[in-house]
Amino acid sequence: MHTEIIKIDMAVPDWDKQLDKAAEVLKSGGLVAFPTETVYGLGANALDEKAVKSIYKAKGRPSDNPLIVHISDINALEALVGSIPAAAPRLMKAFWPGPLTLVFPKSDKIPSIITAGLDTVAIRMPSHPIALALIRKAGIPIAAPSANSSGRPSPTLAKHVIEDLAGKVDIIIDGGNSMVGLESTVLDIIPAQPVILRPGGVTQEQLRQLLGDVGMDPAITNGQSSASAPRSPGMKYRHYAPKAALLLFQGGNDSVAAEICRRAALYINEGTSVGILATDETKALYEPSMHLSSRMLSLGSRLKPEILASNLFRCLREFDEKAVEVILAEIPESDGIGLAVVNRLMKAAGGNIIKV
Ligand code: AMP
Ligand code: MG
Repeated sequence: MHTEIIKIDMAVPDWDKQLDKAAEVLKSGGLVAFPTETVYGLGANALDEKAVKSIYKAKGRPSDNPLIVHISDINALEALVGSIPAAAPRLMKAFWPGPLTLVFPKSDKIPSIITAGLDTVAIRMPSHPIALALIRKAGIPIAAPSANSSGRPSPTLAKHVIEDLAGKVDIIIDGGNSMVGLESTVLDIIPAQPVILRPGGVTQEQLRQLLGDVGMDPAITNGQSSASAPRSPGMKYRHYAPKAALLLFQGGNDSVAAEICRRAALYINEGTSVGILATDETKALYEPSMHLSSRMLSLGSRLKPEILASNLFRCLREFDEKAVEVILAEIPESDGIGLAVVNRLMKAAGGNIIKV
């Protein structure tokens, strides 16, 4: 399949006209990758079962991992959901458009392929102007998972989408950088006390301010699937993973840095190329032991967790571009969206955590 790349410059007047073709492709059952404020999404008509099937095929996504439906207008909600839980209106008013996905009882209009057979549907209104304009022009709800091959780090730049999906989708819209850099928060609002199923762009603190207490699925903090069936099925998979092996180190900054340096030296001796994932606060601890076949990237300052979030997936992909074979990474404990950063790192490491 030929993939057309359409670059959008939002500084140009009438930039949204450049989305007309992509909107037509979506309406006729095709696949369009587009920027959102969280990560790039791979979109198809959510009401067209065949189109949705092709999302799973292009990504190599397991069929039991449900998709999020994206809307541009609150009026689109009614047809998609069976009922509107009590917490929904306040949440939508406060956080839509934005990086918060809400889980509703589903309506019969939603094909079961979207929800992987669940009787619930996850819905979000993105805030990125290109995403909003595209959904509005298409005039249909758009099912859109992250626009990466299943299991790989999510794309925050069009070039990441091109790496994974060129030749497999009709159009890739290049709209620059995804600002948040991590996926949306998924919140189950069906229980009387809503539960975070996936941490993301909207923090637990923000949700608590609005709702009082908010639960957190136990699978989020232990980095593994919960023993019982996960309520957010996609979270059971190893996810977000670079091609390189990824080892995480947990402990005090100095002892983590000492252990990473010690292990880096061992790998380099064996001829294995090493990447070190640090933060601005700790990068000086590694500089003395850097070697020709080792690379270091900083995620940014731990005092600015939103910067860590926006850099994480790009850094993981950058190590792959540099053909690094083993990544040794700190766990950058921090507040707010920092919880989502640690969650993605743990999923990407598939449980390889070393306590020092
Ligand atoms: P992605 O599309 O790659 O951002 O992943 C979307 C994630 O949203 C899935 O992996 C699920 O964890 C979650 N999700 C989607 N639909 C539902 C649902 N109906 N109930 C619970 N979680 C959902
Ligand atoms: Mg994804």
